[in-house]
Amino acid sequence: DRLVAADADGEETAVEAALRPKDLEEFVGQERVREQLDLVLRAARARGATADHVLLSGAPGLGKTTLSMIIAAEMGVPIRITSGPAIQHAGDLAAILSSLQEGEVLFLDEIHRMSRPAEEMLYMAMEDFRVDVIVGKGPGATAIPLELPPFTLVGATTRAGLLPPPLRDRFGFTGHMEFYAPAELERVIHRSAGLLELDIEPAGAAEIAGRSRGTPRIANRLLRRVRDYAQVKADGVITRETAAQALDVYEVDGRGLDRLDRAVLTALLKLFGGGPVGLSTLAVAVGEERETVEEVAEPFLVREGLLARTPRGRIATPAAWSHMGLVPPQQQAG
Ligand code: ATP
Repeated sequence: DRLVAADADGEETAVEAALRPKDLEEFVGQERVREQLDLVLRAARARGATADHVLLSGAPGLGKTTLSMIIAAEMGVPIRITSGPAIQHAGDLAAILSSLQEGEVLFLDEIHRMSRPAEEMLYMAMEDFRVDVIVGKGPGATAIPLELPPFTLVGATTRAGLLPPPLRDRFGFTGHMEFYAPAELERVIHRSAGLLELDIEPAGAAEIAGRSRGTPRIANRLLRRVRDYAQVKADGVITRETAAQALDVYEVDGRGLDRLDRAVLTALLKLFGGGPVGLSTLAVAVGEERETVEEVAEPFLVREGLLARTPRGRIATPAAWSHMGLVPPQQQAG
C-alpha cells in the first residue's frame, strides 16, 4: 500500500492497461533497448521469420510487460502471459508450450523463479522447438518427443545475473532497462494525462516526475493521486503548486521519499549522528522489521546516494543531511 512501491497493486491492472503504449513509437525512453529491439523485429519481419527470444532485465515498473506486448503487436502475433512462480512443474510448461500458436509471444515474467525441471525443459524448447514429455515413473518412464510451433519467448527478470548461464545464452537479444530520466518521466506523465483527459501544466508534470523514483508505474500512480487533489481542492488544473501540495499530503517528498524512507533517515541522522549504526538498531529505532528497512527503504536510499551500507553499519551521506535540512554535528557552530 505504499504510494511509491514499484510493484503493481492488485487493483491497478485495468488502469495500467489503459495507459500502456501500444507500439515502439509510443514507448517513451529506453532509447538503446528500443533501437536494438526495433532492428531485431524489423529483420525478423523482413525474413518472414519468428523473432528471436528476448530477455528483458530491469527493476519493477520500468515497462517490461509493456514491451513484451509491443513485441507481439509489432510482429502481428498473439501473446500469452505467465510467470516463473506460476510454473511449478515441467508439465505446466509443456501444456503452455504445446498450445501456442505459430509465432506467438510467450511472456514469462520473473523467469528466474521457475522450477528447475521446467527450466531444463525450456532450454530444449527455446533451441529446438521441441520438448520431451516424460510419461510414467521410474525405470518404465519414457520420453515422448513433442514438436512445438516456433514461438518467441520474452523473459523478464529483475536481474539478468540471477539466470543460469545456459538459460541466459539461449536468448538472442537482451535488453537492459534503466531507470528513467526526469525528462522522460515528464513525457510519460503528459502522455498519460492526455489519455485521462487531464489539464496539466509542464511545471506540474515536472513536479510529479521528480518524485517518481525513475519509474513510469509510480509516475502514473502519483499522477492519479494529484488528479484527485486537483479536482477536489483546486480547479482541476495540475500546476506545480497543486502537484506539490497533493504529494505533500500523501507524504511523498520532493525527491520521491515517503514516510518510511524519511523515518529511516531521520533516525540515522538525529539519533545516531549519521552512523555508522547496525541495521537491527536502526530498525528498532524506526519501529519496523529489519527486513522492511533493508528491503523496502534502503535500496532507494542507497540508489539516491543518501545512505551507504558499510561493514561497520549504515551511514548517512552528506546529501542525506542536506536533503533532510539538518547539519552534521562536526559542522555545527560552537
Ligand atoms: P513488473 O515487472 O512489476 O510487472 P513492468 O516492468 O512489467 O513491471 P509495466 O507493467 O510494463 O512494468 O509498466 C507499468 C506501467 O508503466 C504501465 O501502466 C505502463 O503504461 C507504464 N509504462 C512503462 N513503461 C513505459 C514507457 N516507456 N512509456 C510509457 N509508459 C510506460
